[in-house]
Amino acid sequence: MKDMKPYVIAGPCSAETEEQVMTTARGLKDAGVEVFRAGIWKPRTRPGCFEGIGVPGLPWLQRVQSELGMKVCTEVAGARHIEECLAHGVDILWIGARTTANPFLVQEIADSLRGTDVPVLVKNPISPDLGLWIGALERLARAGVKNLGVIHRGFMSLDEHRYRNAPQWQIAIEMRTRYPALPFYCDPSHMSGKAEYVPEICQKAMNLGLDGLMIESHCNPSCALSDASQQLTPAEVGRLLRSLQTRDSDTQDSLYRGTMEQLRERIDGYDEQILDALAGRMEVSRQIGEIKKSNNVAILQMQRWDEILEGIRAEADARRLDSAFVLKVFNAIHDASVQEQNKVIQEG
Ligand code: PEP
Ligand code: MN
Repeated sequence: MKDMKPYVIAGPCSAETEEQVMTTARGLKDAGVEVFRAGIWKPRTRPGCFEGIGVPGLPWLQRVQSELGMKVCTEVAGARHIEECLAHGVDILWIGARTTANPFLVQEIADSLRGTDVPVLVKNPISPDLGLWIGALERLARAGVKNLGVIHRGFMSLDEHRYRNAPQWQIAIEMRTRYPALPFYCDPSHMSGKAEYVPEICQKAMNLGLDGLMIESHCNPSCALSDASQQLTPAEVGRLLRSLQTRDSDTQDSLYRGTMEQLRERIDGYDEQILDALAGRMEVSRQIGEIKKSNNVAILQMQRWDEILEGIRAEADARRLDSAFVLKVFNAIHDASVQEQNKVIQEG
Protein backbone atom coordinates (compact mmCIF):
# COMPACT_ATOMS: atom_id res chain seq x y z
CA MET A 1 0.00 0.00 0.00
CA LYS A 2 2.95 2.33 0.35
CA ASP A 3 4.26 2.39 -3.22
CA MET A 4 2.13 5.20 -4.60
CA LYS A 5 2.25 8.70 -3.11
CA PRO A 6 -0.20 9.76 -1.98
CA TYR A 7 -2.29 6.62 -1.84
CA VAL A 8 -5.84 7.92 -2.17
CA ILE A 9 -9.02 6.34 -0.84
CA ALA A 10 -12.16 8.28 -1.73
CA GLY A 11 -15.90 7.83 -1.80
CA PRO A 12 -19.09 8.85 -0.07
CA CYS A 13 -19.60 9.01 3.65
CA SER A 14 -22.49 6.59 3.10
CA ALA A 15 -23.56 4.29 0.30
CA GLU A 16 -27.11 5.51 -0.33
CA THR A 17 -28.31 4.11 -3.65
CA GLU A 18 -26.76 1.91 -6.31
CA GLU A 19 -26.80 4.83 -8.73
CA GLN A 20 -25.11 7.23 -6.28
CA VAL A 21 -22.41 4.62 -5.59
CA MET A 22 -21.75 3.91 -9.27
CA THR A 23 -21.81 7.57 -10.41
CA THR A 24 -19.46 8.61 -7.62
CA ALA A 25 -17.12 5.68 -8.20
CA ARG A 26 -16.95 6.34 -11.98
CA GLY A 27 -16.10 10.00 -11.34
CA LEU A 28 -13.42 9.04 -8.83
CA LYS A 29 -11.94 6.45 -11.17
CA ASP A 30 -11.64 9.23 -13.79
CA ALA A 31 -9.93 11.38 -11.14
CA GLY A 32 -7.29 8.67 -10.72
CA VAL A 33 -8.55 7.20 -7.44
CA GLU A 34 -8.02 3.44 -7.11
CA VAL A 35 -9.69 2.64 -3.82
CA PHE A 36 -13.36 3.41 -3.23
CA ARG A 37 -14.75 3.96 0.26
CA ALA A 38 -18.40 3.95 1.30
CA GLY A 39 -19.99 3.55 4.73
CA ILE A 40 -22.47 0.68 4.77
CA TRP A 41 -23.25 0.84 8.50
CA LYS A 42 -23.16 4.37 9.90
CA PRO A 43 -22.50 5.21 13.55
CA ARG A 44 -24.76 8.25 14.03
CA THR A 45 -24.76 10.41 17.13
CA ARG A 46 -28.58 10.52 17.37
CA PRO A 47 -31.11 7.83 16.43
CA GLY A 48 -33.45 8.56 13.58
CA CYS A 49 -30.70 9.73 11.21
CA PHE A 50 -29.74 7.64 8.21
CA GLU A 51 -27.93 4.67 9.77
CA GLY A 52 -26.60 3.19 6.57
CA ILE A 53 -28.07 0.99 3.87
CA GLY A 54 -26.63 -2.15 5.48
CA VAL A 55 -26.06 -5.49 3.74
CA PRO A 56 -28.04 -4.60 0.55
CA GLY A 57 -25.28 -2.07 -0.25
CA LEU A 58 -22.50 -4.66 -0.34
CA PRO A 59 -23.38 -5.95 -3.86
CA TRP A 60 -23.04 -2.31 -5.08
CA LEU A 61 -19.45 -2.35 -3.85
CA GLN A 62 -18.94 -5.62 -5.72
CA ARG A 63 -20.16 -3.84 -8.87
CA VAL A 64 -17.55 -1.12 -8.30
CA GLN A 65 -14.91 -3.85 -8.11
CA SER A 66 -16.01 -5.77 -11.17
CA GLU A 67 -17.04 -2.92 -13.50
CA LEU A 68 -14.40 -0.34 -12.57
CA GLY A 69 -11.56 -2.51 -11.26
CA MET A 70 -11.35 -0.44 -8.08
CA LYS A 71 -10.67 -1.82 -4.62
CA VAL A 72 -13.40 -1.16 -2.08
CA CYS A 73 -13.39 -0.49 1.63
CA THR A 74 -15.92 0.08 4.37
CA GLU A 75 -16.22 0.60 8.11
CA VAL A 76 -16.76 -2.34 10.46
CA ALA A 77 -17.81 -2.11 14.08
CA GLY A 78 -18.32 -5.72 15.10
CA ALA A 79 -18.25 -9.42 14.25
CA ARG A 80 -21.41 -9.39 12.12
CA HIS A 81 -20.09 -6.58 9.89
CA ILE A 82 -16.87 -8.50 9.32
CA GLU A 83 -18.68 -11.68 8.44
CA GLU A 84 -20.76 -9.83 5.83
CA CYS A 85 -17.76 -7.94 4.41
CA LEU A 86 -15.70 -11.08 4.05
CA ALA A 87 -18.64 -12.89 2.42
CA HIS A 88 -18.93 -10.03 -0.11
CA GLY A 89 -15.19 -9.74 -0.83
CA VAL A 90 -14.60 -6.24 0.59
CA ASP A 91 -10.88 -5.54 0.02
CA ILE A 92 -10.02 -3.27 2.96
CA LEU A 93 -11.77 -2.61 6.28
CA TRP A 94 -11.52 0.38 8.56
CA ILE A 95 -12.38 0.81 12.20
CA GLY A 96 -14.15 4.10 12.94
CA ALA A 97 -13.19 6.62 15.61
CA ARG A 98 -16.08 5.69 17.90
CA THR A 99 -15.21 2.01 17.71
CA THR A 100 -11.46 2.47 18.29
CA ALA A 101 -12.50 4.12 21.56
CA ASN A 102 -14.16 0.86 22.69
CA PRO A 103 -11.74 -1.96 23.60
CA PHE A 104 -14.57 -4.54 23.85
CA LEU A 105 -15.56 -3.92 20.23
CA VAL A 106 -11.96 -3.76 19.02
CA GLN A 107 -11.32 -7.13 20.69
CA GLU A 108 -14.45 -8.59 19.07
CA ILE A 109 -13.23 -7.32 15.68
CA ALA A 110 -9.73 -8.68 16.27
CA ASP A 111 -11.13 -12.10 17.22
CA SER A 112 -13.29 -12.25 14.09
CA LEU A 113 -10.34 -11.36 11.87
CA ARG A 114 -8.16 -14.18 13.20
CA GLY A 115 -6.87 -16.24 10.28
CA THR A 116 -7.87 -13.73 7.57
CA ASP A 117 -5.50 -11.47 5.63
CA VAL A 118 -7.73 -8.50 4.91
CA PRO A 119 -5.99 -5.13 5.49
CA VAL A 120 -7.39 -3.06 8.37
CA LEU A 121 -7.03 0.70 8.85
CA VAL A 122 -7.57 2.01 12.37
CA LYS A 123 -8.89 5.54 12.81
CA ASN A 124 -7.77 7.47 15.86
CA PRO A 125 -10.23 7.38 18.77
CA ILE A 126 -12.54 10.38 19.25
CA SER A 127 -10.57 11.58 22.28
CA PRO A 128 -6.88 12.53 22.05
CA ASP A 129 -5.70 9.29 23.63
CA LEU A 130 -2.66 7.82 21.91
CA GLY A 131 -2.73 4.78 24.23
CA LEU A 132 -6.22 3.79 23.08
CA TRP A 133 -5.18 4.11 19.44
CA ILE A 134 -2.06 2.00 19.98
CA GLY A 135 -4.08 -0.46 22.08
CA ALA A 136 -6.41 -1.11 19.14
CA LEU A 137 -3.43 -1.82 16.88
CA GLU A 138 -1.99 -4.19 19.49
CA ARG A 139 -5.26 -6.11 19.81
CA LEU A 140 -5.38 -6.59 16.03
CA ALA A 141 -1.69 -7.48 15.80
CA ARG A 142 -2.05 -10.06 18.58
CA ALA A 143 -4.91 -11.68 16.65
CA GLY A 144 -2.50 -12.07 13.72
CA VAL A 145 -3.74 -9.17 11.55
CA LYS A 146 -0.61 -8.29 9.59
CA ASN A 147 -1.72 -5.68 7.13
CA LEU A 148 -2.41 -2.72 9.36
CA GLY A 149 -2.51 1.03 8.83
CA VAL A 150 -3.78 4.09 10.67
CA ILE A 151 -6.01 7.01 9.77
CA HIS A 152 -5.68 10.35 11.51
CA ARG A 153 -9.10 12.08 11.49
CA GLY A 154 -8.61 14.58 14.28
CA PHE A 155 -9.92 14.67 17.85
CA MET A 156 -12.99 16.01 19.52
CA SER A 157 -12.20 19.18 21.44
CA LEU A 158 -14.22 21.55 23.58
CA ASP A 159 -12.06 24.47 22.43
CA GLU A 160 -13.23 26.63 19.55
CA HIS A 161 -11.46 25.42 16.44
CA ARG A 162 -11.41 26.15 12.73
CA TYR A 163 -12.11 22.47 12.08
CA ARG A 164 -14.77 20.00 13.18
CA ASN A 165 -12.10 17.87 14.85
CA ALA A 166 -8.86 19.32 16.20
CA PRO A 167 -5.92 17.87 14.25
CA GLN A 168 -3.52 17.77 17.23
CA TRP A 169 -0.76 16.99 14.75
CA GLN A 170 1.68 16.29 17.57
CA ILE A 171 -0.28 13.12 18.46
CA ALA A 172 -0.14 11.95 14.86
CA ILE A 173 3.57 12.73 14.75
CA GLU A 174 4.11 10.76 17.96
CA MET A 175 2.29 7.78 16.41
CA ARG A 176 4.34 8.14 13.22
CA THR A 177 7.56 8.32 15.21
CA ARG A 178 6.73 5.19 17.21
CA TYR A 179 5.63 3.14 14.18
CA PRO A 180 7.45 4.61 11.15
CA ALA A 181 6.70 1.60 8.95
CA LEU A 182 2.93 1.70 9.48
CA PRO A 183 1.00 3.11 6.47
CA PHE A 184 -0.30 6.44 7.67
CA TYR A 185 -3.38 8.15 6.20
CA CYS A 186 -4.98 11.47 6.86
CA ASP A 187 -8.75 11.92 6.68
CA PRO A 188 -9.16 15.64 5.89
CA SER A 189 -12.94 15.30 5.57
CA HIS A 190 -13.80 14.34 9.15
CA MET A 191 -10.97 16.54 10.41
CA SER A 192 -12.27 19.67 8.68
CA GLY A 193 -16.01 19.04 8.61
CA LYS A 194 -16.11 21.45 5.68
CA ALA A 195 -15.33 20.84 2.01
CA GLU A 196 -13.48 24.15 1.62
CA TYR A 197 -10.87 23.21 4.23
CA VAL A 198 -10.13 19.77 2.78
CA PRO A 199 -7.37 20.91 0.34
CA GLU A 200 -5.29 22.75 2.96
CA ILE A 201 -5.33 19.71 5.24
CA CYS A 202 -4.35 17.39 2.35
CA GLN A 203 -1.37 19.64 1.62
CA LYS A 204 -0.40 19.66 5.27
CA ALA A 205 -0.52 15.85 5.30
CA MET A 206 1.74 15.78 2.23
CA ASN A 207 4.15 18.23 3.85
CA LEU A 208 4.35 15.96 6.88
CA GLY A 209 5.22 13.09 4.56
CA LEU A 210 2.13 10.98 5.33
CA ASP A 211 1.43 8.04 3.00
CA GLY A 212 -2.14 8.60 1.94
CA LEU A 213 -5.49 10.35 2.15
CA MET A 214 -9.03 9.19 2.79
CA ILE A 215 -11.34 11.79 1.26
CA GLU A 216 -15.14 11.84 1.33
CA SER A 217 -16.68 12.39 -2.07
CA HIS A 218 -20.28 12.33 -3.25
CA CYS A 219 -21.72 12.83 -6.75
CA ASN A 220 -24.11 15.39 -5.27
CA PRO A 221 -22.73 16.51 -1.90
CA SER A 222 -25.52 18.87 -0.85
CA CYS A 223 -28.02 15.98 -1.04
CA ALA A 224 -25.85 13.53 0.91
CA LEU A 225 -27.67 11.68 3.70
CA SER A 226 -24.68 12.07 6.03
CA ASP A 227 -21.79 14.55 6.29
CA ALA A 228 -23.16 16.71 3.45
CA SER A 229 -20.99 19.74 4.25
CA GLN A 230 -17.63 18.01 4.03
CA GLN A 231 -17.89 16.00 0.80
CA LEU A 232 -16.26 16.98 -2.49
CA THR A 233 -17.56 16.05 -5.92
CA PRO A 234 -15.37 13.53 -7.78
CA ALA A 235 -14.29 16.34 -10.15
CA GLU A 236 -13.19 18.43 -7.15
CA VAL A 237 -11.21 15.46 -5.86
CA GLY A 238 -9.48 15.27 -9.26
CA ARG A 239 -8.60 18.96 -9.18
CA LEU A 240 -7.39 18.67 -5.60
CA LEU A 241 -5.13 15.72 -6.36
CA ARG A 242 -3.63 17.53 -9.34
CA SER A 243 -2.97 20.64 -7.26
CA LEU A 244 -1.31 18.83 -4.35
CA GLN A 245 2.36 19.41 -4.02
CA THR A 246 3.67 15.98 -3.25
CA ARG A 247 7.09 15.34 -1.87
CA ASP A 248 10.10 15.58 -4.19
CA SER A 249 11.36 12.43 -5.84
CA ASP A 250 14.73 13.22 -4.31
CA THR A 251 14.60 10.98 -1.21
CA GLN A 252 17.11 12.97 0.80
CA ASP A 253 15.22 16.15 0.26
CA SER A 254 11.75 14.75 0.96
CA LEU A 255 13.02 13.17 4.16
CA TYR A 256 14.48 16.53 5.12
CA ARG A 257 11.23 18.34 4.45
CA GLY A 258 9.07 15.79 6.24
CA THR A 259 11.33 15.88 9.29
CA MET A 260 11.52 19.67 9.27
CA GLU A 261 7.74 19.93 9.15
CA GLN A 262 7.42 17.59 12.11
CA LEU A 263 10.03 19.46 14.12
CA ARG A 264 8.44 22.82 13.32
CA GLU A 265 5.13 21.44 14.50
CA ARG A 266 6.78 20.63 17.84
CA ILE A 267 8.35 24.09 18.02
CA ASP A 268 4.92 25.65 17.40
CA GLY A 269 3.56 23.50 20.23
CA TYR A 270 6.27 24.72 22.63
CA ASP A 271 5.72 28.35 21.59
CA GLU A 272 2.04 27.94 22.38
CA GLN A 273 2.89 26.52 25.82
CA ILE A 274 5.25 29.45 26.47
CA LEU A 275 2.51 31.93 25.52
CA ASP A 276 -0.04 30.15 27.72
CA ALA A 277 2.42 30.15 30.61
CA LEU A 278 3.16 33.87 30.13
CA ALA A 279 -0.54 34.71 30.06
CA GLY A 280 -1.20 32.61 33.19
CA ARG A 281 1.78 34.10 35.01
CA MET A 282 0.74 37.66 34.18
CA GLU A 283 -2.76 37.00 35.49
CA VAL A 284 -1.35 35.77 38.82
CA SER A 285 0.94 38.78 38.90
CA ARG A 286 -2.05 41.11 38.55
CA GLN A 287 -3.77 39.35 41.47
CA ILE A 288 -0.63 39.82 43.56
CA GLY A 289 -0.72 43.52 42.61
CA GLU A 290 -4.31 43.75 43.93
CA ILE A 291 -3.37 42.12 47.22
CA LYS A 292 -0.29 44.35 47.65
CA LYS A 293 -2.46 47.35 46.94
CA SER A 294 -5.11 46.47 49.53
CA ASN A 295 -2.41 45.75 52.11
CA ASN A 296 -0.39 48.81 51.19
CA VAL A 297 2.80 46.84 50.47
CA ALA A 298 5.54 47.94 48.05
CA ILE A 299 5.65 46.25 44.64
CA LEU A 300 9.34 45.51 44.54
CA GLN A 301 10.35 42.73 46.90
CA MET A 302 14.00 42.51 45.88
CA GLN A 303 14.94 39.79 48.33
CA ARG A 304 12.27 37.45 47.02
CA TRP A 305 13.29 38.18 43.42
CA ASP A 306 16.99 37.46 44.18
CA GLU A 307 15.98 34.10 45.68
CA ILE A 308 13.89 33.30 42.62
CA LEU A 309 16.77 34.15 40.29
CA GLU A 310 19.11 31.88 42.24
CA GLY A 311 16.63 29.03 41.88
CA ILE A 312 16.21 29.72 38.15
CA ARG A 313 19.99 29.76 37.62
CA ALA A 314 20.25 26.30 39.23
CA GLU A 315 17.29 24.95 37.22
CA ALA A 316 18.83 26.31 34.01
CA ASP A 317 22.16 24.63 34.80
CA ALA A 318 20.40 21.35 35.53
CA ARG A 319 18.75 21.52 32.09
CA ARG A 320 22.03 22.51 30.42
CA LEU A 321 20.59 25.83 29.34
CA ASP A 322 22.77 28.89 29.04
CA SER A 323 22.00 30.52 32.43
CA ALA A 324 22.89 34.04 31.22
CA PHE A 325 20.26 33.73 28.49
CA VAL A 326 17.65 32.28 30.86
CA LEU A 327 18.25 35.02 33.45
CA LYS A 328 17.82 37.63 30.72
CA VAL A 329 14.45 36.15 29.79
CA PHE A 330 13.28 35.97 33.40
CA ASN A 331 14.43 39.51 34.17
CA ALA A 332 12.40 40.72 31.18
CA ILE A 333 9.38 38.78 32.46
CA HIS A 334 9.89 40.25 35.92
CA ASP A 335 10.13 43.79 34.55
CA ALA A 336 6.88 43.35 32.65
CA SER A 337 5.29 41.93 35.78
CA VAL A 338 6.37 44.89 37.91
CA GLN A 339 4.99 47.28 35.31
CA GLU A 340 1.70 45.40 35.32
CA GLN A 341 1.47 45.57 39.12
CA ASN A 342 2.28 49.27 38.92
CA LYS A 343 -0.70 49.74 36.63
CA VAL A 344 -2.92 47.84 39.05
CA ILE A 345 -1.82 50.01 41.98
CA GLN A 346 -2.33 53.23 40.03
CA GLU A 347 -5.81 52.20 38.92
CA GLY A 348 -8.62 53.76 40.91
C1 PEP B 1 -16.61 7.85 8.29
O1 PEP B 1 -15.49 7.63 7.83
O2 PEP B 1 -17.62 8.03 7.59
C2 PEP B 1 -16.75 8.02 9.75
C3 PEP B 1 -17.86 7.77 10.39
O3 PEP B 1 -15.63 8.51 10.27
P1 PEP B 1 -15.12 8.69 11.80
O4 PEP B 1 -15.13 7.32 12.40
O5 PEP B 1 -13.75 9.23 11.59
O6 PEP B 1 -16.04 9.65 12.47
MN1 MN C 1 -18.56 10.64 7.20
